[in-house]
Order: sequence, then structure tokens, then C-alpha cells
Amino acid sequence: MQLPSEVQDVITKLNAAGFEAYTVGGCVRDLLLGKEPKDWDVTTSANPEEIQIVFPNSFYTNTFGTVTVRTGSEKIQEIEVTTYRIDADYNDQRHPDSVTFTKSIREDLARRDFTINAMALAPITDASPHNDTVSMDGMTIIDPFGGLKDLHTQVIRAVGNPSERFAEDALRLMRAIRFSAQLGFEIEEYTLRAITEYAPAIEAVSHERIRDEFIKIIMSPSPEPAMNLLQKTGLLAMILPELEEGVGITQNKHHVYTVFEHSIKSLQFAVEFNYSMHVRIAALFHDIGKPRTRRFANGDYTFYGHDIVGARMTELLMDRLKFPKDLTKTVTHLIRHHMFFYDVGKVTPAGARRLLRRVGKDNFDDLIKLRIAERKGSGVPKAEPYRLRHLQFMVEQASKEPISVGQLAVTGNDLIHELGLRPGPMIGGILHALLAEVLEDPKKNDKQYLLEQAKLLQEKTPEELKKLGESAIEDAEKKQEEEIKRKYHV
Ligand code: ATP
Ligand code: MG
Repeated sequence: MQLPSEVQDVITKLNAAGFEAYTVGGCVRDLLLGKEPKDWDVTTSANPEEIQIVFPNSFYTNTFGTVTVRTGSEKIQEIEVTTYRIDADYNDQRHPDSVTFTKSIREDLARRDFTINAMALAPITDASPHNDTVSMDGMTIIDPFGGLKDLHTQVIRAVGNPSERFAEDALRLMRAIRFSAQLGFEIEEYTLRAITEYAPAIEAVSHERIRDEFIKIIMSPSPEPAMNLLQKTGLLAMILPELEEGVGITQNKHHVYTVFEHSIKSLQFAVEFNYSMHVRIAALFHDIGKPRTRRFANGDYTFYGHDIVGARMTELLMDRLKFPKDLTKTVTHLIRHHMFFYDVGKVTPAGARRLLRRVGKDNFDDLIKLRIAERKGSGVPKAEPYRLRHLQFMVEQASKEPISVGQLAVTGNDLIHELGLRPGPMIGGILHALLAEVLEDPKKNDKQYLLEQAKLLQEKTPEELKKLGESAIEDAEKKQEEEIKRKYHV
């Protein structure tokens, strides 16, 4: 166990100026767990002005006593140095009304959220041992709340009275569950009860903060138990009521799990396969439209249109939680198209080309990943990866063939210059009618042939062109969708 030289250096300089200084919080927790801390926080008895005198190359931007020290090193560039403080009275369940500096490290530790986050560590052997200090590897750890024991037994426990701590700051509700997901720890009984009691207070927390904790949960190794905790404590109903709608919603003969169970299991598999964030989010929300579209017909439930409804619901909820627009777009696109059809022997090469056209080359692999996670998460053993590989192969072939107007062997300009057509909407109509032919048979993508066809097409009315072109492509897709609906009751 060793502190990086940059951190050591900050502590030494503060000590030399006559102040106490410790690393504190998350970095102590991670260090003791043998993990590489993300960032290093130092806490000190020096006030912000005194810190700035010790580190002239530092800046002080807020009023909470935190000074950012520039180390001049490449590896750890900045270290946050914060004056020991006490938070005084929270009235909005989120921000302390004021902070008071203190000379006591133990008072500073007492304001922290969980015991495993409320330890301080310094590279000294304490001259005046206290009953809450522990010496380890030439370091002193101050542990007034049993954080070491809780680290060892893998428990998230509030510092002090859990109800009071959640009443002060409702973000801690999410943090408790997030740490349990990241560390794989249990939440201690009274802490968990207090979370349930104070769940409605999460309303006071900004959507951005909730989103950040949510992202940490889905990027953690075990989001499934965390999502269950969010649900059981009542937090889910507050932050993601759309997902809550799926609780207890049974499905049909293709599923053994309820919509909610299936959603979080799909997410868990997306994590197990190490899929990226947007695929994880899509896995969690792909069936979010099911509760609203569930109908009973011929002895079983159907969910017609849940992909369309789900994509829209996901867009709205991601906007509400202030996700970046491009991420929302990618996720909703995957959800909109997650019902693609892929039976070996039934998907024709033309079908694969139309699928690729609809979904886009860039998204296709992610859509396959979504399908894999979703199949695994259905609990029905029939994941049949060879069928997906077959489809992937067909789509790879398809990606070599023209699937858009821009890839045709003739351009709008050719039609104007070689057939004397006038620029206008007719041109687009003709090109789409040609594309419909080429999607069916890529061999027809031949300039001479297409010009001949275009000559015939120029006699058609715009309505007729639409029927031959865009509508024809759409109809073929619809036929595929009908097939899925029949087969899977969706
Ligand atoms: P990580 O950075 O890995 O997400 P962390 O524990 O370092 O986890 P930070 O948000 O960086 O979390 O906060 C640093 C420390 O500040 C925490 O370990 C904890 O001691 C304290 N802390 C942070 N947020 C709160 C809060 N809402 N209430 C009480 N203490 C908090
Ligand atoms: Mg941190």
C-alpha cells in the first residue's frame, strides 16, 4: 500500500507548514480495496487561504473549501485539497445551507455518507494513538465509524443515523445503491430501510445527478441487483416510472420472465458481454413499451407496436434525464428496430439488404448485440447464435450491394443529361423506383439497364412512381414485420 509521490508531496508540504493533512474518502476506500483510485482527495486543517499560500500554483473556485492544487506531474495533474468542514443544516435535501470549517478531522469524517467513505489515511505513524486509529504498512488510518470492518464484510452503511443522513441529502439514496453495484456490496439493513423511507425525497435531486448515478450503475459489473434494489426501495418509481410499469407484467409463451425482470436481465447480459453504454441502455429499455401495448388475444398476450411506443418512451425519458441528444438518438434507433426478423432460410438476400438499409451499417452490429443480450435475458434457452451469425453473414454480403439511391449506377444528373428529364421531384421518384428493383436484384445495377428502365418510368405519374419506389420498399419491410408479429405475438 503506497501513496503516489504527487499525493505524498502535497501532504508533506502541508505538514511542513504546520497543518494536518490526510487522503480521504473514495481514494482511501479504493486504496484499501487494492483498486486504483480515480482521483485523489486530500483533507487538511489548513483553511483555503493557507492552502493557497502553501501551493501558489493552485486555484480556489467554490466556497466549499476545496482548492485545486496543480502538481506539475503528468500522471496525477490535479489534487483537490479541502479544508476540514462540517455541513450545517440541509433544508433542500440536497445542498448544505452553509459550510463551517473545523480543526477536527473526525468532525469532517462525520459529515461523509457511508462508513467505507469516511476514513482518512496519512503516511505517518500516529504519535498519539486514538481508539479509532489503525496503523498499517507505515500508514495511519482514522476510522471512527467502522469503515475498515465494513470494507472487509462488504457492507454499505450510513455514517450515523441513516434516516437523518438521507433526509439531509437525497443524492445519497442513489449513491448507496450505486456503490453496492460498483463494489458488489450489500446495503446494511437499517440503511436500506431508511432508503425506502426516504425514496420520495429523490425528487429534490437534479436530473443530471440522477443520470450520472444511473450511468455508474449500468457501467458497473452488477446492475441487475442494483436495479432490483432501486425497484424495491421505491426509487425506480420516482426516477424511471416507465420501467416500473413493467413490474409484474407477465408476457407470453416466448418468455418466462415479467417485462421488468427481462429488462434488467437483458441489461445484465449486455454487461457480461462487455457491450458499450448505448447497447446497455437499449437492452434495459428495449421492451419499455410492452406494458402499454399489451393486449389479450387468442389465449395469449400480444405487444404489437411496442418497438415504436418503446422508442418514443425512451426518447422522452432520456430527454428528461438530460442524456446527450446523440446518445438518445442511437439508443432509440436500436429500440425502434430491435424486432428485426432473422429466420435462416426465410431472410432472403433482398430482405437482408432492406434490413441494412433501414437500420444503417453503423448500427447493425449493435443491433445484433442487443438481440443477443435480449435473447439471453429472456431465459428461454433458444438463443441460437448460428442463426444470428448467418444473418450477420448475409448482411455483410448485403453491405457490398447498393442499398441507397446514392449507390445506384445512375444519378439524377444522368437522367437529366441522357434522358433530357427536367430537374424536379420526378427524378427522385424514378431513382427510388430503380432502387426498389436493385434491392430485389443487385445485378440490375447497370447503367445501361437502369437508363432503359428510367425511359419507361418517365411516362408514369408521381403516384405510380411512389407505388413502384418508396412504397414498394416499405411494403416489403412491412411484410417482414407481419411475419415477426405472427410468430412472436409482438
Ligand atoms: P467515486 O469518485 O469513485 O465515484 P467517491 O467516494 O470518491 O467515489 P466522490 O463523489 O468523489 O465519491 O466524493 C468523495 C468523497 O466525498 C466520498 O467518498 C464521501 O466521503 C464524500 N461525499 C461525496 N458525496 C457525498 C454526499 N452526497 N454526502 C456525504 N458525503 C459525500
Ligand atoms: Mg471520487
